[in-house]
Formats: sequence, structure tokens, C-alpha cells
Amino acid sequence: MSISLHTRLWVTLFLILGISGNLLAAPKPYVNTPEQVAKIFYTALSREDCQMAIQLRFNYSQADCRRLWDLMRGDGSEFKNFTITSQTENTAFMTATYSSIRHDASRETKMTGFDFDIELTQKDGSWMITKDSLEQRLNSSISHDSQPSPQQQPESVQAQLVEGKYPYGFPPPLSHNLLGKSIRSVILGENQKLVALTFDLCERENEVAGYDRAVVEQLIKNGVKATFYAGGKWMQSHSQETKELMTNLLFELGNHTWSHGNLAVLHGEEMQRQILKTQRVYEEFRDELVASGYHQIPEMRTVRFPYGRCNSESLDFLRQQQLLAIQWDVVTADPSPKQTAKGIINIVKKQVKPGSIIIAHANGRGHGTAGALEELIPWLKRQGYEFVTVSELLQEAQEVKAVDTCYELVPGDNVKYDRLFKQK
Ligand SMILES: [Zn+2]
Repeated sequence: MSISLHTRLWVTLFLILGISGNLLAAPKPYVNTPEQVAKIFYTALSREDCQMAIQLRFNYSQADCRRLWDLMRGDGSEFKNFTITSQTENTAFMTATYSSIRHDASRETKMTGFDFDIELTQKDGSWMITKDSLEQRLNSSISHDSQPSPQQQPESVQAQLVEGKYPYGFPPPLSHNLLGKSIRSVILGENQKLVALTFDLCERENEVAGYDRAVVEQLIKNGVKATFYAGGKWMQSHSQETKELMTNLLFELGNHTWSHGNLAVLHGEEMQRQILKTQRVYEEFRDELVASGYHQIPEMRTVRFPYGRCNSESLDFLRQQQLLAIQWDVVTADPSPKQTAKGIINIVKKQVKPGSIIIAHANGRGHGTAGALEELIPWLKRQGYEFVTVSELLQEAQEVKAVDTCYELVPGDNVKYDRLFKQK
């Protein structure tokens, strides 16, 4: 009697522990080929997603993952060319290519890249990584940094590489309290003086806008990083210019809707199309460029609402799409035909602060923009400012100023654009 009670107790205890053990274990991502496991694992590593990484490798700890991340840190790291070299029922051997842009102590920018080996084992129907030669290769590539790299980007891109400690191609941090809001500026640590110059490339339904090459040349000449918010339709009518911007390591592109839609007025499919069609054009260009040998072209993860207009529906749609809404805190007012270089210079000098996002235009509709940059770039440098892309600004932020509405400078100040838009 007492034995059977004991047995029952043990069985119950065993069941409880067993079940709760299962419940506590993190769900494994669903993957069933060695290639899929390898791709997910190394992408997770490059994003410091150690939670994910430890689920895909035997005897792998958070500390192992962090150590590797530290070796790659400061680089725009990318893994590609996953190739199976041999495979049996339970073991697979692969190679992959690691490439990065590294900024060394002397702030010089270097491309590195190498192939490394991966071994995977199948157990209970799922593939896991058992070992690789990545860490070893990273350690030796860091100590032999001056060796020429086997993974070079095409000449034109290499020539445009600039000095700077910020890695190129970082995706912006998709923290959940930023999704679904509109971002206006950031708060930085003490003594940090970063600023993000942004230029919109707007093109409406019944027009073809231009390209202000003088603006872009000012930026390139001075090695100034910037972010361009391009309409999908603009990208299509300016495909060469778009690819020039995409392959220049100074620049990042964001989504400015398809045809400058007012996303406080458009709803449902029409509103979604403005965003998605633009993402698609960018992705097509990106695929094309990657296929022709360019690395390090980041995904487009940020959006700027035209007219600074949005509503809860469009903000919510961006949240669903994991896209961040980036607005501004300094308005150059360069679309006004009355604006001048002097006017822009005065506004920026008066209003800029560390963490600012400045909005101007590069679609040929900016008045005085290039002229203003000629004076503003050296002035901002003298004030101790460093130019970063929007993604980099978000990476460095201690706090992000994000709100639930969209406006020019104060809530409600751009509602007039809803009326204009409806009349069209
Ligand atoms: Zn615009």
C-alpha cells in the first residue's frame, strides 16, 4: 500500500517535472536542412541574437556567442555562399564566406573576407552545428589585418570607402517600443555629438522629379554620411542614381512611400501598397546588386511619411512590417521657393543639437540646399559633430524621442496637407 503510494507520488513528480521542463525550454526554430540551420545560425550571430544561436549549436553558450560577436563587433559583417561540400545521413560539411568592413584603431576602413568550414550533425530529426573554423579565422584575420583581402568589392565602392568608426549596414534596432511610433530625434550620452542629415527623394503620381547631384557631391567630397528617403516611383525613374546611392558606403536608403502618398488620408490596401511596392523595388535592386558582386547592401528598414502625415492605421501597418517611422526635429524648409542657402544655414545653426535628424531634399526641389551644405558641413564639424546614418544614430541612442502622431514641428501643424491631398 505504502509502496504503491510512493510509486504514484514519484510518477506524479516525474510527470510534473517532465512537463514543466518541456514548457520551460525555448521553442526550437523550425528548420530541417543543414543549409537552413547554418544560415539562421550565422545570421543570428551577426545580429548578436544569442538566444537563437544557442538553440542551433551543440554545447554552445551565450558566452561563446558573445565572444564571437566581440570579434566581429564594429564590422559590417555578412555571411554568404553557404555550400555543402559533403553530406551523409547524419553529418554534413559546409563552407561559407564571411565578409566585413572593419575600422581599425587608426580609423582606417578595410574590407576583409574569408571562407570557413562548418560541421553539422543530425540528431532526432534536426540538424545542429557541431563545430566551425570561424573563430580561429577571425582571430588570425585580426592579427593579419594588413594582408590583402580575398573578398573585395568592386572598385568604385572601394574608392568611396571613408574613415569612420561607425559600421556600415547595421540594421536599426527594432525594439518594440519604437515600432508603431514616429521617431523625431534621439538623446545621446554626454559628449556624444552625432547628427543625421536626411534628404527626401519625393516623386508624386503625375510627375518625374529630379536628382540634386550637387547635394550628393557635397556629401561625398566631405565624406559625410547621410540617409535618403526615396519614393519607390522615384527609384524606378532614377534607377541608376538609386543604385549609386545604394552602393555608396556613406549612404543608407529609407522608404518614402511609392508616390508620396499621404498616409493619414489613404487607407487599407492603397495605404499598404504605398509602403510595400517601394520595399519591393528596393529589394529587386538589392538582389541585382548583390548578384553582380556587391556585399553589404543593407535591408531597407525605415520609412518616412510624406508631408509628415500618418495615422494610427499607417503607424500600425509599419509596426506589423517591422519598419521604423523616421521623421525629424530640424526642418530646413528647402521645398519653399523662397528658401535660400542663408536661410537654411540659419535654421540649422540655431536648431541643431546632438541627436538631431535634419530633413532636406535632394529631388531637385530643394532651394539653397547644396549651397547651405557647403557652409554647414565644415561648421558642424567645427562644433564637434559627427555625421551618421539614421540606423547608426538609433544604434547609439540612449533614449529615442518617439511619439504616437506625426507632425512637422508641433502636433497638428501639417493637417493642411490632408485637404490638399483630397483635392487632387
Ligand atoms: Zn517627400
